[in-house]
Amino acid sequence: MIKYVPELTDIVLEEVPGRVTLAVEISNCRGSCIGCHSPFLKDDIGEELTPEVVDRLIAANFGVNCFLLLGEGRDKDALLRIAAHLREHHPGIERAVYSGRPEVEPEIYAAFDYVKVGPYIAEYGPLNERTTNQRMYYHGEDITPRFWHKGIDTNR
Ligand code: SF4
Repeated sequence: MIKYVPELTDIVLEEVPGRVTLAVEISNCRGSCIGCHSPFLKDDIGEELTPEVVDRLIAANFGVNCFLLLGEGRDKDALLRIAAHLREHHPGIERAVYSGRPEVEPEIYAAFDYVKVGPYIAEYGPLNERTTNQRMYYHGEDITPRFWHKGIDTNR
């Protein structure tokens, strides 16, 4: 099971380049970033993110073309089930996940269109700074430089 925090669900324009993205915050984070922006996301909080919930959220936010999980939780199979559901039932919506781990398993790269990896390390900065250790991949291509000419905050 993976859980999300319903009250933090939002439409975002900057986390995924060129996409109108519906973003859900996933709890049970297994990261250990020093200077974590949301320590409460390490706790077992929120409600289960099921395929039915995903359907409801998408129906309530007509026009989005990307679904982003901010965090991956601790249940990889449940995460992959959500990705598979999106692929099968919402083919016009791209799938994105932000992981705080340095790398994720090949099946996660394969299941999502966009995968961001790397813990937040203050001295290297977030994704929109050239010194960042974090990386955003689109189907295996490193698209991190697309963030460098924008004054956006992706500090997560
Ligand atoms: S991935 Fe995000 S929530 Fe998890 S420890 Fe790092 S900053 Fe905190």
